[in-house]
Amino acid sequence: MGEIEKTTPMMMQYRLIKEQNQDKVLFFRLGDFYEMFDTDAVEVSRLLNLTLTKRAGQAMCGIPYHAAKAYIKRLLDLGKKIAICEQVELNNDPKQLARREVVQVVTPATVVDDDFLDSRSNSYVLCIAYHRQRFMVSYTDITNGEFTLRSAEMDKQFNALLAIIEQVKPREILVNEDDYFLHLDFQRIIDAQNAMVTKLPSWFFKAKEGYQLMCDQVGTCSLKAFSLDASSPEVTSGGALLRYVIDSAKTALDQIRGYTLADENTFLQIDESSRKNLELLLNLQDGNERYSLFSSIDASVTSGGARLLKKWISFPLIDKEKILGRQDWVRRYCDDRLELDRTRTILKGVLDLERLTSRIAMGRSLPHDLVGIARTVKAFLELVSDSFSLYRPLFGDGFSDEQMHALLEVVQTIDKSLNDQCQGPFMEGQVILDGFDPELDSLRSIKDNGKQILDTYLGKVRTETGITTMKLSSNKILGHFLEVSKGQVDKVPSSFYRKQTLVNAERYTSDELIACETKILKSSFEAEKRERVLYENILSETRELRNQLLSIGNFLSQVDCLQAFATTSIRYNYCCPVFTDSDCLEIEGGRHPVVEQQLGVGSFVANDLHIKPSGNRFCLITGPNMAGKSTFLRQSALIVLLAQIGSFVPATSARLSLVDRLYCRVGSSDNLARGESTFLVEMQEAAHILRTASARSLVIMDELGRGTSTQDGMSIAYAVMQSLLELGPKTLFATHYHELAQLDTSLVQLLTLQVLEKGGEILFVRKVIEGIANSSYGLNVAKMAGIPNKALRTALSFQKRHFSEYGVANPQLDLFASDSSATEMGGVPILTEVEADVLERIKEVDIPSSTPISALLLLEDLKKKL
Ligand code: ADP
Repeated sequence: MGEIEKTTPMMMQYRLIKEQNQDKVLFFRLGDFYEMFDTDAVEVSRLLNLTLTKRAGQAMCGIPYHAAKAYIKRLLDLGKKIAICEQVELNNDPKQLARREVVQVVTPATVVDDDFLDSRSNSYVLCIAYHRQRFMVSYTDITNGEFTLRSAEMDKQFNALLAIIEQVKPREILVNEDDYFLHLDFQRIIDAQNAMVTKLPSWFFKAKEGYQLMCDQVGTCSLKAFSLDASSPEVTSGGALLRYVIDSAKTALDQIRGYTLADENTFLQIDESSRKNLELLLNLQDGNERYSLFSSIDASVTSGGARLLKKWISFPLIDKEKILGRQDWVRRYCDDRLELDRTRTILKGVLDLERLTSRIAMGRSLPHDLVGIARTVKAFLELVSDSFSLYRPLFGDGFSDEQMHALLEVVQTIDKSLNDQCQGPFMEGQVILDGFDPELDSLRSIKDNGKQILDTYLGKVRTETGITTMKLSSNKILGHFLEVSKGQVDKVPSSFYRKQTLVNAERYTSDELIACETKILKSSFEAEKRERVLYENILSETRELRNQLLSIGNFLSQVDCLQAFATTSIRYNYCCPVFTDSDCLEIEGGRHPVVEQQLGVGSFVANDLHIKPSGNRFCLITGPNMAGKSTFLRQSALIVLLAQIGSFVPATSARLSLVDRLYCRVGSSDNLARGESTFLVEMQEAAHILRTASARSLVIMDELGRGTSTQDGMSIAYAVMQSLLELGPKTLFATHYHELAQLDTSLVQLLTLQVLEKGGEILFVRKVIEGIANSSYGLNVAKMAGIPNKALRTALSFQKRHFSEYGVANPQLDLFASDSSATEMGGVPILTEVEADVLERIKEVDIPSSTPISALLLLEDLKKKL
């Protein structure tokens, strides 16, 4: 109790607000600082290395408000949410406590400030609601207003849900706390994601309220236009998501203009692990962008373009018309290099229109953002000026002439009115240019001419009174006054009022002086007011056009992606893939887009793949390690994916039919984060493929059955192979179980990677040819890697002893061939097998126990061998 009595009113206010923001760090504004108290102070001082102070037993730490951004960014990166609490009304009575409110909650998904965003990645918040055996998933990016609703079936491994999460890569995930705490498996997979997890109370997910909120947001009384109604299960998740972003942003979110109810069947389906294995956006090695498919084809020049390109890669199409539409553009740019150059040059000058517009829609913009918008719209007009109709298909809703006219007007207004040198927040006198508004100009001139007005007045009273020494000055207490020395006082007219008496002088004012003073002060105030009104007007005119601006932003991003496709195909010599209706995948001279660039020009060996409409669809690929199997498998998948995003592909020619699902499962993916063994994961992934693949799918399987014993592994690989043959997807199946190729192969294309042998060494040609590898050359590869000869010999004799009963040839090249050029890594000569044998036997001789005869006999024996 004593505690509470000591608590000041301000601390009471703090605690009340903190009570409602327990899961956030509360930045409490006091004067020029944001202060943190209690546990917040202790935690933040530790995280950010700030000084922790104690006042009246109270832990405190503070940061200057003007430097807050840097600290917020660091806290966000550390996975914290920040509630910013400001003083929300002017307080004239210092004894009264000012009213304070949380004006914004900063979370990874609700920031729109460039400082907190990666300009080249979308910033999604994704919300999951479990509803009648399905997951309702919605996500939004408030930096461009996209809002999508989807659903995923519930299965034991959460495959469908994880595929969406991997596709969207949200920065923040919202879940119903009931789902989260009740289902431990669900909790485990959500926590394993690389995103902030926020648990929402279950009332957020009420369908009726959610539906109403979603209607209110877009200003309609039904969501029919978006194919949703009050009973659509998707609104449980959509409503919760919308409520969360509105609550956090604490401002209008006018950029959210509608909802996309996505049909899962309009995109090429790729599950979570296949996305990762194909290294679409990030590489598997260090999780960075380099060496990913994205980075190998990214020739975009705008940040919006880079974001859209990632999205296109994440959402390949299955609609042939749409794909061909993109191809047409790429071809147009490839054929007209001048136009391509012109487009790239113009795009280099555009700013991030989507993000600028969203900031304006949320009232979080700076004056300079308007200048950026005008500049970008002008670039857009320059781009489309000659051929607007050509570009029309890239616009969703299109523009009316009226809207176009309004847009032009706003651009002109911004050009004429805004000072493009003004970088910071609104500052009086800095924003609106002279010459734009006569009223503002005249107010400004009065203000600026204040001194002249006073001088003129002084001149006038000097002449009128004859007091030539009269002075006009000002101070804080009296304001402006006229000063007359004691000797001249009798000349002062009765219209002057005395204000102060000094030793040698008297100070006066007059009605006219007061009028001058008021006029100057007022005009300064009026000028500021007028400038703000003008600025707000331009801002709201621009805000009215947010739909058009967002469309233009999206248009520019599309153009950027299309020119990027063209630029990449010119740079790396890609070809335009041809889509056929007959089911095939025929690639001539195919290359791996990433490996090719890593190796440099001309070093990559191109390979063909022929899955013909009437031919075998299952390719069994054998070959030693390092021969190039994985590369060949992945390049085939990537070529299909590139084709289905409308890009050209790294090949000399490619004919293919649309693929509905793409799978890429590779040997060593283990999922320690989820506590599952390699083999279990392997089997789960294989099971998933067998359950969901269709005859129109493409399956890439690399080294199935590696994580278990040879017998188990081989049997499982065989069984999966048989199941796939029945299901009928096009399949590339690489295996080190060469035995599989000896079995019934009438439905199988047998492919192998060519290997040349020379004196115990093997040479990888990296060429795919028909046939079966006649050896896995495992020991040769081990030798090339520097495994010592002794170990190699042990391996060889083990193999001879234990594997001969399989009856399958695995002839290692003569590992210890007597080729004089064959030397070990360190340059020590390699012994032949016979020499080694002889040496071994000499070493085994126990001299003390041998007789001269036995020694002689041994010697004879050895000599015969050599
Ligand atoms: P495997 O799967 O058979 O063990 P990989 O596909 O991993 O072999 O290839 C091993 C290495 O060989 C790769 O890192 C790559 O540098 C190189 N390589 C693979 N394919 C080619 C190719 N077609 N042309 C040139 N180098 C290649």
